[in-house]
Amino acid sequence: MERISIIIPCYNEQETIPIYYEEMKKIMADMKEVGFELIFVDDGSGDHTLEQMRSLAEKDARCRYLSFSRNFGKEAALYAGLSHASGDYVAVMDADLQDPPELLPRMYELLSTEECDCAAARRADRDGEPLLRSFFSDCFYKVMGKLSRTGIVKGARDYRMMKRKMVDAILSMSEYNRFSKGIFQWIGFRTIWLEFPNTKRCAGETKWSMKKLIAYSLEGITGFSAAPLSLAFVFGAIFCCLSLFLRVLALGGSLFSGKPVTGWTSLVCILFLQSSVQLLCTGILGQYLSKTYLETKRRPIYILKESSQEKKLEKQRLLCTAKQVKTLPNNMAG
Ligand code: UDP
Ligand code: MG
Repeated sequence: MERISIIIPCYNEQETIPIYYEEMKKIMADMKEVGFELIFVDDGSGDHTLEQMRSLAEKDARCRYLSFSRNFGKEAALYAGLSHASGDYVAVMDADLQDPPELLPRMYELLSTEECDCAAARRADRDGEPLLRSFFSDCFYKVMGKLSRTGIVKGARDYRMMKRKMVDAILSMSEYNRFSKGIFQWIGFRTIWLEFPNTKRCAGETKWSMKKLIAYSLEGITGFSAAPLSLAFVFGAIFCCLSLFLRVLALGGSLFSGKPVTGWTSLVCILFLQSSVQLLCTGILGQYLSKTYLETKRRPIYILKESSQEKKLEKQRLLCTAKQVKTLPNNMAG
């Protein structure tokens, strides 16, 4: 029997996990022809997310969990899940039901019947999302499309089901600064897109503040394009030509009129403009340097604190010890 592993990154999702599990139970019951493995990844939650996962793993053998020592971010949670998945097909989806589980049977059907390696989901609209957030994400996708060679499909979610070879390709990219949407595109493989209308979270709050979203966008741009680095060169060339032209203009003017060069204000404005552009370019260099610095340290992408596998082994060990104690002669056991 073929098996699908589903990876669910969770950060403070105590309200959504039970709702998500109930929905998934229905889907798993409908898809009898295939086995399931649900891998919940607790990304250092501060609420009762881990307790929820422990109890699911206790009552349903299809549920497993991994728990991080602190919040490492969704990207790290996805990587951890992918490296622990053992299924023939692997799906990644959010815990808040914004990635509709009803698409899973169609994804599986596509992967098993069509010539493709990945069935991915994209939002057809952004109804119900704050306008400012929609505006910034539109801008981000446009910039990414222009700057990187791969680009990102508009409205693309991380939600997708992949064949094993695609998962192995993702795992071979063990970079520390991860941006999954870019990685999915970069590795290639044939992807079929399924559209769905935007849905609201089933419970709880979004974990992405504006600050986190900006950092995520920068990660995407610096991770998949070196174009901003060329900005320094472009600005340098423009200012070089401009200053030459101004010098000729100023010298020519003073020679013809016989008066010294005036224009303190314009000079200060030019100085300000030039120094701000220099700072901007240094900032861009800094961004790339900091990413390189973190990569060279080769720190682990995540640190595990607990996992269902570990708990299971511990339980078995305790049972074995208890059995051994029972079989010992009474005087030795005491
Ligand atoms: N998430 C995570 N670590 C984080 C932030 C989010 O594992 O640091 C998980 C979160 O629990 C959810 C998914 O990533 O399952 C998407 O997060 P969210 O729904 O908050 O993002 P949005 O849908 O608003 O973009
Ligand atoms: Mg969400």
